[in-house]
Amino acid sequence: MRGRTFSLAYVLALFASLIVAAHPAAAQSLLRDAETEQLLKDMLAPLVEASELSPGNVEVVLINDSSINAFVAGGQAIYVHTGLINTAETANEVQGVLAHELGHITAGHAVRFDERTKVANNISLLSLILGVGAVLAGAGDAGMGILAAGQQAAMGSFLSFNRDQEAATDLAGARYLSGAGISGKGMVTFFEKLRGNEIRAGYSQADEAAYSRTHPLTGDRIQVLRGLLDDDAAWDTPPDPALQERFVRARAKLYGYLAAPQNTLRTFPPSDTSIPAHYARAYAYHKDARVDLALAETDALLAREPDNPWFLELKGQVLLESGRPQDALVPLRRATELTLAHPLIAGMLGHALIATEDPKNYAEAESVLRASVQKDRYNPFAWYQLGVVYEARGDLPRAQLASAEQQVMNRRYPEALRSAQAAEAGLPYGSADWIRAQDVALEARAELERIKKKR
Ligand SMILES: [Zn+2]
Repeated sequence: MRGRTFSLAYVLALFASLIVAAHPAAAQSLLRDAETEQLLKDMLAPLVEASELSPGNVEVVLINDSSINAFVAGGQAIYVHTGLINTAETANEVQGVLAHELGHITAGHAVRFDERTKVANNISLLSLILGVGAVLAGAGDAGMGILAAGQQAAMGSFLSFNRDQEAATDLAGARYLSGAGISGKGMVTFFEKLRGNEIRAGYSQADEAAYSRTHPLTGDRIQVLRGLLDDDAAWDTPPDPALQERFVRARAKLYGYLAAPQNTLRTFPPSDTSIPAHYARAYAYHKDARVDLALAETDALLAREPDNPWFLELKGQVLLESGRPQDALVPLRRATELTLAHPLIAGMLGHALIATEDPKNYAEAESVLRASVQKDRYNPFAWYQLGVVYEARGDLPRAQLASAEQQVMNRRYPEALRSAQAAEAGLPYGSADWIRAQDVALEARAELERIKKKR
């Protein structure tokens, strides 16, 4: 029972920090998920290889936003809305969009949107059902809609391409698809759908219009594009079935995570025993705190694929968040092992180890969390956990440094500056952590200066 109390207190603390984090007007949330990120990366890789850019230099980032959009920002990053993933029928359609966005990057269209990188700075983790705080608080989809509308208003001024830019970008996108031997059918069908507003039910006009507002989809533009693509040798190349399967799984997972549970259960009724359906329902039940049903779904998934790291991650998540951190350790350790310590999964293992409240587990927690943030800094939650474990072990300067890292990521600059200065004062002079504390203080101070100048 004690574990449960701990998690509840912890939930409340986290909830408070999420509310603070969500406060800035233009805040847009990045959604981190190991499986989806890997999928998007694998979808993009052949296209980057066919482009003028060097492989590994372009990032795809998932944005938690139900409107259908994708855009480029901050040099070489493509931002994809969850709404776009959810609306696409095939991996091939998403690849068509990625090819087009890549065209914007190679044409240098991303540069002038540098400011956007600051806008999309909040981070939520799919491996944390509490990330959907609004749903738990009863606001449901309405909360998400409000957020999305604000973002679109902010985005309108940054992103609108003219016809010439779009035509040149289409040309580049078509070239990358061709070079990668990927059919352009998905690109054409997706653009046609967006233009014709034939998106399946459940989407508002505003959601649908987002992409065509930023990338004007005129009829003749799509005609030209189709002409270009259906002449290509790859036009009739069948889609990669493995990629498509990964896509429908990730899409179902995102749907289960984001939609209201009753909608998920309507879209994926219990009679549907496909893997995507089990996947989506596991999230729906988990969000509804129907733990036994959620576990039955994850066990059904694991019965089919016992060594699937994402299924193991999900089982660990359900157990952990329903107050059984000790039981969560087994699947999470296995998932960490299978993914060679993927930073997001290792972060969750660290969380579970701390949640056991067993001091014997703290050394392992510290080591997995340190490894996690070393590989991937952009995980405010792992920093939070690391702070907890340092504090439990009496290492206050490091706890303050971890707080500073988390606060600067959540754009709480005054707190970040204070924490970083306190850390700097307590850490060994000249050590790596001491230098890091100075860097965080510098970053927080620069942001505070920038905000002051704006006023
Ligand atoms: Zn465009």
